[in-house]
Amino acid sequence: MKTTQQNLKSTVLILGDQINRNIASLSERAPEDTRILFVEITDKFSNKQWHKQKVHLLRSAMKHFAQDLKDEGFEIDYRKAKNLEKGVVAHKKEYGATSVIAMEPMNWNGKQVLERLNIDLVRNNQFLCHYEDFAEWTLNKTKFKMEDFYRWQRKRLDILMEGSSPCEGKWNFDHDNRERPPRDGREWPSITLFKQDDIDDEILQNLDDFWGAAPRGIWPVTRKQALIRLDEFVTGALTAFGPFEDAMLGNEWKLAHSVLSSSLNIGLLHPMEVVRAVEQSYKNGDAPINSAEGFIRQVIGWREYVWGLYWLWMPEYKSENFLKAERSIPPAFLEKESTNMSCINGAMNHLYEYAYTHHIERLMLFGNLSLTSGINPQEMTNWMWSRFIDGAEWVMMPNVIGMATYADGGKMATKPYASGGAYVNRMSDYCSSCVYDPKKRTGNDACPFTTLYWDFLERNENQLSGNPRMGQQFGGLRRLSDLPEVKIRASEILTKLDDGTL
Ligand code: SF4
Repeated sequence: MKTTQQNLKSTVLILGDQINRNIASLSERAPEDTRILFVEITDKFSNKQWHKQKVHLLRSAMKHFAQDLKDEGFEIDYRKAKNLEKGVVAHKKEYGATSVIAMEPMNWNGKQVLERLNIDLVRNNQFLCHYEDFAEWTLNKTKFKMEDFYRWQRKRLDILMEGSSPCEGKWNFDHDNRERPPRDGREWPSITLFKQDDIDDEILQNLDDFWGAAPRGIWPVTRKQALIRLDEFVTGALTAFGPFEDAMLGNEWKLAHSVLSSSLNIGLLHPMEVVRAVEQSYKNGDAPINSAEGFIRQVIGWREYVWGLYWLWMPEYKSENFLKAERSIPPAFLEKESTNMSCINGAMNHLYEYAYTHHIERLMLFGNLSLTSGINPQEMTNWMWSRFIDGAEWVMMPNVIGMATYADGGKMATKPYASGGAYVNRMSDYCSSCVYDPKKRTGNDACPFTTLYWDFLERNENQLSGNPRMGQQFGGLRRLSDLPEVKIRASEILTKLDDGTL
């Protein structure tokens, strides 16, 4: 056990997604009265499906932050342990620490663990709307619509407002944000590749067992790097972000997306500073309203909304499987070049190289195939969590269970996001180089998305036909003259999907 003088200090436990000097448990603390505990959980990465860049990000960001705090004069206990519980218990024993403080974890299980350990929890300040405030907002409402929440956030936070009205008279400029991908071979905004240091080099030596391309300085691991990335987005990419936010190009992994989500999700950036920077760019006349509003809606609307719903519905939400989907993750999602579907191959290349695809590739390619083929939503959540750089339980669970796979039976989305190949054909350059034909639903060259769309409706008619928003889709199904042939082709497609020959 350490000396009496050291025992007088309180311990602040910092979790791997709370990497910021201004987190609520640390902002008022000084080296004289505080020691810092980091626990690197070895069990977390026992599943080798984790992406190398993600393992690196989480380890490197923690180690760099520990170094920053050490440089500031804090006593640091950076330890490895099988799980968080063992790490905290070992720390208490070694240091004789009687008081351990932490900011509320982002995820439900983490909070249970810290409560069991009698850790003093400080209210989480990494979001603009704490989940308790979100729960209060839901009171007396039967439906918790994202659009209503978003407008409430805009008003109460005074973001993109002119008095009590939204800037330029509208809440939503999505109409201007659905441009097809340009085919002119234009350059997309570039990003700085950050130099890796000795801390990174040590981590890089232990990544061989994990999946994906090695880290090469794409994802910020320090606050300084994250601020550079924020500035790059606002000054170099924001203007093009809006119009092309839904477009997909095989040779371009991010187009004009911000690639700030990993920095937000581990705490390197706070949502308010990101949103104010974008708002200022609009106010300065540098960014158009459709880009600024579209981006701000993702941050103060969608991101905060899924965080609130996660806490509102956990822990039951975790096991939802309304459509009884039990298919395992297919080979096409496990390795590159495991399917002839050009769009899935393209998105898998992005995922392998960058641990990232943008939201439309997630929802309309991976999510759509998962929904229409019936992949188990819990397996899908875990897959996304481990492979995507910005994945975390609180963000992946509502996005997969609620949005992508309709596994919550419509608590979150008003109808399933099932779609045939036409959408991909309109919004990407994938179909022109594909062996499948997006217009066909039968025959050997039928697009799997197009066939499975109809098969999905037919398979799930009992659960879904009562949904008033799906009347048109079921009307279309009833008019389908070749449904028996579609069913035969769908069965072939599902067999091929399972055995990796699709
Ligand atoms: Fe994807 Fe179908 Fe288009 Fe091929 S034809 S790229 S499978 S949507």
